[in-house]
Amino acid sequence: MQLETLLQQAEHAIKSTTSIQDLEQCRVEYLGKKGSLTEIIKTIGQLPPDERKLAGQNINLAKENIEQWIKEKSILLKNNQLKQQLEKETIDITLPGRDTGCGSIHPVTQSIEDLQRIFEQMGFISLEGPEIEDDEHNFTRLNTPPFHPARAMQDTFYFPNGLLLRTQTSAVQIRAMKYMQPPLRMISIGRVYRRDFDLTHTPMFHQIEVLVIDEDATLATLKHLLTQVLQAFFAREVTIQFRPSYFPFTEPSLEVDIGCIACNGRGTVCRVCKQTGFVEVLGCGMVHPHVLKMADVDTKRYRGFAVGAGIDRLTMLKYGILDLRSLFENDVRFLKQF
Ligand SMILES: [Zn+2]
Repeated sequence: MQLETLLQQAEHAIKSTTSIQDLEQCRVEYLGKKGSLTEIIKTIGQLPPDERKLAGQNINLAKENIEQWIKEKSILLKNNQLKQQLEKETIDITLPGRDTGCGSIHPVTQSIEDLQRIFEQMGFISLEGPEIEDDEHNFTRLNTPPFHPARAMQDTFYFPNGLLLRTQTSAVQIRAMKYMQPPLRMISIGRVYRRDFDLTHTPMFHQIEVLVIDEDATLATLKHLLTQVLQAFFAREVTIQFRPSYFPFTEPSLEVDIGCIACNGRGTVCRVCKQTGFVEVLGCGMVHPHVLKMADVDTKRYRGFAVGAGIDRLTMLKYGILDLRSLFENDVRFLKQF
């Protein structure tokens, strides 16, 4: 067969293949051991010597051409194959992904952050104290010396070495007065511990302590501060009422009620305020002069007021939670609602 014709045939055959297998077939047909081109090479020996060189060059050229066509076609076919495969195996990205579940902030944490923000905006500093306290800071310096009857108000967890789990964040105000000079505006938020467990008591709960020591700290400024803070916390108008009470470290001591959040103070059938229209939210009072003196505060110049509130209780009121224990059970179904 003429080389020229063979090349034309080969080019046509290679370019019209549609699969890798067919292409391989072509390669065998033209370049294989028994292929057409190989057959022509075998005929070189029969040519007159002066024609052999030229024929050899032509054949080599033809071989290179065929190899090149096969290479190009191979790339083309492989690309097509990949494209088809991709089309067939397309991932449908419109399918919604699996929900991994998103956590929420615990309502108590939310309250703590809210209170911190409200007080910090008013220029209060936020301090922390140890949860394992000594008797001195938790009781004695809060005007509750040993054998004082008020100690019975708080069932305390004691360690064998006489230390205790603090029963109130008030302990932090003693440390604050010890290390900082008045005027002083501070809050302290943290865990406190008492031996109690029922619908409205848990052995661990959260308190906020507020202390202001200033030349003109009065009950009036205290009431104003509480109104502002409670309105900011509950995000609504609140009515506030003082009731006389007793705490060893304040004099006078007061309990503070606000108009019931659940029934808007109407006092109709209401589980939260038990038909009184008011709910107790915190305790407060003017810091007892004895406490100030023990902390070396100049009582001729400075007076102070202090506030202590249960953050869990505030949280229950804010979100209408009836059982305090549900705050500590970490039931995701409950927590998800916030
Ligand atoms: Zn009510």
